[in-house]
Amino acid sequence: MRNRHAKILATIGPASRAPDTLRLLHDVGVDAFRLNFSHGSHEDHGESVKAIRAIEKETGTPICIVADMQGPKLRCGTFEDGKIELRYGQTIEIRQGTKPGRAGSIIMPHPELMKAMVEGTVLKFDDGKMQVTVLSNDGTVATARVDVPGPLSERKGINVVNTVLPMSAMTDKDRVDMAFALTQDVDYIALSFVQSSQDVRDARAIIGDKAGIIVKIEKPSAVEDLDSILLAADAAMVARGDLGVELPLEDVPVVQRRIIRKCRALGKPVIVATHMLESMIDAPTPTRAEASDVATAIYQGADSVMLSAETAVGRHPATAVAIMDRIIGAAERDPIYWEYFKSIQLPYEATAEDAISGAVRGIATKLDAKAVLGYTMTGSTVQRISRERPPCRIVGLTPNMRTASRLALSWGVTPIVTTDPSDFDDMMERVSDIAKDHLGLETGDTVMISAGLPFGVPGTTNTLNISKVK
Ligand code: PEP
Repeated sequence: MRNRHAKILATIGPASRAPDTLRLLHDVGVDAFRLNFSHGSHEDHGESVKAIRAIEKETGTPICIVADMQGPKLRCGTFEDGKIELRYGQTIEIRQGTKPGRAGSIIMPHPELMKAMVEGTVLKFDDGKMQVTVLSNDGTVATARVDVPGPLSERKGINVVNTVLPMSAMTDKDRVDMAFALTQDVDYIALSFVQSSQDVRDARAIIGDKAGIIVKIEKPSAVEDLDSILLAADAAMVARGDLGVELPLEDVPVVQRRIIRKCRALGKPVIVATHMLESMIDAPTPTRAEASDVATAIYQGADSVMLSAETAVGRHPATAVAIMDRIIGAAERDPIYWEYFKSIQLPYEATAEDAISGAVRGIATKLDAKAVLGYTMTGSTVQRISRERPPCRIVGLTPNMRTASRLALSWGVTPIVTTDPSDFDDMMERVSDIAKDHLGLETGDTVMISAGLPFGVPGTTNTLNISKVK
């Protein structure tokens, strides 16, 4: 049982792939794991899923698995010597092809980029570390001036700053990876470089209800079309790595806050990702600024904060998780954290689900209720309760294993897999046992129970009961 409400999503990589390490990461605080399909083989990802589902079984804790698609990420090709040096003011050539490049010449495998480059197009390499401006392009060879120099290694990412490329959010590789991920019982598919709600609908046509869809917001066009993209998705990620290259850096905090607020209003989980404890890739402690960055995301109301290279390739993956856990815990113990949630007016729908979830916050405060236990088939009512950010535990009780593991990403939710009670009395009986065994509550503690009676029919939430633990 975690002593915090916001969740930790950790990326798996060579530093964390071993089953014992995954177990350690889970024990010190990971609620959800990310399989990054930009790296690793299907075999690697399949083994990770197997190991995580085994941990779920051993510990009885549902764990969320996110399969993150690479998307149309543009990358340089290879170089004869593995890397080249871009020197300030130098004029370089850029061509399309698959042969290795060499000093002064980049060869990359993207015809769309070759076509789109015009005089003035700005290209950034390796998450914006280097930058060139295109001087000319005859369709076969483009020339560019180096504005920000540095060493460029092969296969590093390319971001095109001021040009929209005619590319779908799903590449052929993504379709193959997605088909594989859907055979692996993952909970969410994360879509990279989404530009419009149509991208989400295209993915939904393939995914159906086999997994939820997380939209990674990392393109200016996605920020412009945020409302309709978030409406079409099930969850969102503030993908600050690419976002901070595609947008001016100073816009990232503003956009982060906007995305978190919009997701909360919609009742969709939101993840803040990238560079959270970046220095811990090497160092055993983060910088003060990194600690503050994690806390800021928590104060803003993020459902989940993500570790990337820190757990994928870093030297201290378990320590990074443990420190993130401590930072979240400290922010959540601050009374101001709870004041902020109260001050935001949420939009309500005229549904029994919203009326019940809206009441939960007030009851938790007025009666010092320790928990709300929600019986759920699809997770929908529990997700609406989570949106309220009530000052008590939220337990998602479901017979559906996939509903449980998906809820593990959502703010404050402890998912528990259990069969539906036979009737109201049976429900009351079980709730006391769960409150004591899983939440450490005591006889006499106040709890709330939400349910749809009769049991077993999705979309029928109609009951909110207040009672004492027996
Ligand atoms: C990001 O850009 O911040 C991100 C999470 O995506 P990726 O790790 O795939 O670059």
